[in-house]
Amino acid sequence: MDFTFTDEQQAAQMMARRFTEKEIIPIADEFDHEDKYPAEVADKMAELGLFGIILPPEYGGMGMDYVSYALVIEEISRGWMSIAGILNSHLMVGYMIANYGTEEQKQKYLPDISSGERRGSLGLTEAEAGSDTASMKSTAKRDGDDYVINGNKMFITNAERGNTFAVLAKTDTQIQPQHRGISAFIVDKETPGFTVGRKIEKLGYKGLRTCELVFEDCRIPKDNLIGDKEGQGLKYVLNGLEVGRINVAARAVGVARAAFEDSIKYAQQRHQFGQPICQFQAIQHKLAEMATGIEAGRLLTLMAADKKNRGERCDLEAGMAKLFTSELSVKASLEGIQIHGGYGYTQEFSVERYLRDACLFPVGEGTSEIQKMVIARRLLEKYKI
Ligand SMILES: Cc1cc2nc3c(=O)[nH]c(=O)nc-3n(C[C@H](O)[C@H](O)[C@H](O)COP(=O)(O)OP(=O)(O)OC[C@H]3O[C@@H](n4cnc5c(N)ncnc54)[C@H](O)[C@@H]3O)c2cc1C
Repeated sequence: MDFTFTDEQQAAQMMARRFTEKEIIPIADEFDHEDKYPAEVADKMAELGLFGIILPPEYGGMGMDYVSYALVIEEISRGWMSIAGILNSHLMVGYMIANYGTEEQKQKYLPDISSGERRGSLGLTEAEAGSDTASMKSTAKRDGDDYVINGNKMFITNAERGNTFAVLAKTDTQIQPQHRGISAFIVDKETPGFTVGRKIEKLGYKGLRTCELVFEDCRIPKDNLIGDKEGQGLKYVLNGLEVGRINVAARAVGVARAAFEDSIKYAQQRHQFGQPICQFQAIQHKLAEMATGIEAGRLLTLMAADKKNRGERCDLEAGMAKLFTSELSVKASLEGIQIHGGYGYTQEFSVERYLRDACLFPVGEGTSEIQKMVIARRLLEKYKI
């Protein structure tokens, strides 16, 4: 791995840093506290081309590499991690179409997905099928030239603002193992029989609506099956999740960095016992551990991104990055609150938001327990005797 960033990677990082400082940080606390959708910021990200950042240029995307993507997501999340959430499922939908869609699907959807005209949302999880996605109950039955979808999805990010959904449903409920019966479909929001259900109130990750999806005899053309083969849906999503986990790991590094940067500043300003609290060894140890974790987490994330750039399978590396940075982010934001003392527990400082946001990382996009299973499975393959 080459640790030197290319000119393009550095330019992407600087662009995102400037954007975050100008557009995101000034509004983040207010929008978080009021649980308000950052519509203007999203539109400005569309103007910058970020909705197509990793999508192919021949379909309107920026075609950036995954290291640039990780650097951009880290910067944005240093300001407010919800903003990076707008891009995550959107880009996973774009990724699935770009990599597995038919030529017609690519031409029909990708230019508008890249421009942000279409906003993507991914419907995988169900109320009874979270970590065990293969046990999903939603079905898509072939009926002439259509598929008819029935079922419910749970915890779907961008459901309110998204208009182009990648939805996973079973086209075969009998086949074993169950994942072979799962197919992926593109569903437009306006399709009769499809409704976005209740908004789920959350601890953090404010601004973005997380909702249920309801499908009642929702009829879509057979051409909306992603790719041209049934039973491939979970494979597509799992590959898309490599990109999703690079996003989440970079987000977690961004939140940990925000906690660290706020804390090291505060520790030099806050005086107790006649000196700045950064002079106390107990505070210095916290800062040292936070900064060390951030560097390690970033390297893991970039290692996964670099592997993805080379077109190699990176579920092991993305899983490790996601696992490590998720736990790091929670720990760093908790330490951030501790360094801020009583003020850290108030809404006058941002560290309480960082903690509320960080708590999503070990849960969303595959829990830490599931990451450990994925990592161990791959290690056992690699070190098989
Ligand atoms: C804010 C938010 C946004 C989300 N956005 C989306 C989205 O856009 N699209 C989407 O499809 N989903 C989304 N999700 C769903 C998310 O991916 C799931 O919540 C996650 O995969 C866990 O599923 P679950 O909540 O059902 O937990 P469960 O699977 O019920 O897990 C509960 C606990 O049991 C543990 N556990 C489960 N199985 C095992 C096992 N085999 N071994 C050891 N421990 C185990 C888990 O690690 C966890 O600690 C979102 C979730 C949240 C909270």
